Amino acid sequence: MISFCSTRNPSLVASAGEVLELGLAPDGGLFVPRSIPRIDIATLPTASFQEMSKAWMHAWLKDTEFEDDLASVVEDALDFPVPLVHLDERTVVLELFHGPTLSFKDFGARTMARLLGRRLGRTGGNRVILVATSGDTGSAVADGFAGIEGIRVVLLYPGGGVSETQERQLIVERPNVQAVRVKGTFDDCQRLVKGVFADPSLSGIPLSTANSINMGRLLPQMLYYVWAVKTLQDNDIEFVVPSGNLGNLTAGVMAHLAGLPVHGFLAAHNANDFFPSFLLDSDKKFGSTIQTLSNAMDVGAPSNFERLQVLLESKRMRQLIQGEVVSDEETLSSMRRVFEETGYMADPHTAVGLEASRRIREGGNAKRTNVILSTAHPAKFPDVCERAFGQRPEEPPRLSELKGAPTKVTDIEPESGHLAEILTSL
Ligand SMILES: *Cc1c(COP(=O)(O)O)cnc(C)c1O
Repeated sequence: MISFCSTRNPSLVASAGEVLELGLAPDGGLFVPRSIPRIDIATLPTASFQEMSKAWMHAWLKDTEFEDDLASVVEDALDFPVPLVHLDERTVVLELFHGPTLSFKDFGARTMARLLGRRLGRTGGNRVILVATSGDTGSAVADGFAGIEGIRVVLLYPGGGVSETQERQLIVERPNVQAVRVKGTFDDCQRLVKGVFADPSLSGIPLSTANSINMGRLLPQMLYYVWAVKTLQDNDIEFVVPSGNLGNLTAGVMAHLAGLPVHGFLAAHNANDFFPSFLLDSDKKFGSTIQTLSNAMDVGAPSNFERLQVLLESKRMRQLIQGEVVSDEETLSSMRRVFEETGYMADPHTAVGLEASRRIREGGNAKRTNVILSTAHPAKFPDVCERAFGQRPEEPPRLSELKGAPTKVTDIEPESGHLAEILTSL
């Protein structure tokens, strides 16, 4: 049976259920698997994404408390398509934005929410999921956890710090979800959340978190890497991963360590260039966060880096992963170039990946298939799209339907007392 331990202490061991419930290890480290299953990918079914996913998740979680939940959780959580779109013979976009909130974060949030809901159903426990968000995490978590028995969600976001489209997705009324608009910045929101976790007077509230430090999100994020390799029947793919907190990349690395054959990974970053710089110079330190057009990747200190360092020793890391840094200018010109050449509208995050891919192919690997993870739907970023394409992308019905939907949001000043009041009155 799989078990996990803290990145900071191999003898701090936890079960799959505990890991999902706690998020962060009690010593402040991140949970990593103590051993990784070996999976023969030839044996995985290919009839559908869901059938393949059940088999992969079973290999990871068999004999845990979740074994009997997996089939129905996968069917319920991952009920949307995962298309591969060829831009040319060797450039393939893996579209991960067909879930309800139109970003890849739906895979992790929806699956984790249901697994945690099953556990709480068995233990009779309940949890308050507290997240600070500046982008896609909030809506994916709110949507994924809404209406799940035993779970309440409190979602903090900076007023004025998210796009109108993003805000609409955050404040639409959902059962058991409370959106809180903070008069301040994203850093204020994070400070409030950290303060609440550290406040002894609130220790009676079963707080938990659901950002990508939670292993429960990374496990389902392995699935689409496996799906791409199986569908393309190509064991020498370069996966191009638009990265911020490095959760997506870490999931790909975990899949590879479990036996998924790949050529390697390309971590495509915006101006927040810590990780690509580290790959070239291991003395590089975390930076402060820089705002860019690909705002969901604006992370100066990626938390999953700690996990990657435990999973891969440094020589192997540099063999397997390359990094590229793409500026806002290059992001816009990449969006424009791909649109003019192929008619494909990529969102700014995907465009960072497309540009990184173009560069390494010009550098010599033109024959290898590059699979670029497309992390969000362009309609989530209509203003950037208008700048790049001269037109706004068509809104998928999921987004336009939100326009008339009832909303619910509480406004607070960036003071911990206000948040504490909300939490104690839940
Ligand atoms: C969260 C996010 C990313 C970055 O993913 P990480 O796992 O944090 O590296 C990239 N693109 C979009 C659209 C996102 O929402």
